[in-house]
Amino acid sequence: MSVVNNTPNKSNWYFSSILGGLFITAKHLIKNLLNKDKMITLNYPEEKYEYSPRFKGNHVLTVKKDGAIRCTACMLCATNCPAECIKITAAEHNDPTVEKFPIAYEIDVLRCVFCGFCEEACPVDAIRMGPEWQTPGSNGSQFIYDINHLAYRPQLKGGVVSVVDEVERHKSGI
Ligand code: SF4
Ligand code: SF4
Repeated sequence: MSVVNNTPNKSNWYFSSILGGLFITAKHLIKNLLNKDKMITLNYPEEKYEYSPRFKGNHVLTVKKDGAIRCTACMLCATNCPAECIKITAAEHNDPTVEKFPIAYEIDVLRCVFCGFCEEACPVDAIRMGPEWQTPGSNGSQFIYDINHLAYRPQLKGGVVSVVDEVERHKSGI
């Protein structure tokens, strides 16, 4: 085993580098304090970044014109989900024109990787990824979003109406 002993000269070199680093930090601190408008960082939460409307954030279950859930409980989203974080319980509907619907639909967002595969897999525009990205919570159970949260949380103001019309959907066979 070889042992390298630091010479006094090398110690001096480290000290000058530390001073150089502190100088650069102080220079940027003063520059930023004098030019707050040009700072590239935000003072969160007072200032928030505006994401694109296409940003894939929190999930939304869309609704039909009458406010009912659009989802047909086909399970394609759950099957396609790489994180296996979607759980759906299907039931038969009283309306003969509705084959199935979900009596329970849950997403465990702590496992979700926000890949958008569920949205891509859905044949009837029943699930979308919206622009919301703040998901506060104090324990794990608050991150399991149920059907009411996904479709009717207050931020959605009564629900997001699907672009797929029921009559057109039946005509096209989906
Ligand atoms: S965004 Fe991806 S990981 Fe999250 S629920 Fe959808 S398919 Fe699953
Ligand atoms: S959200 Fe879409 S893909 Fe998922 S079960 Fe409902 S209809 Fe099927």
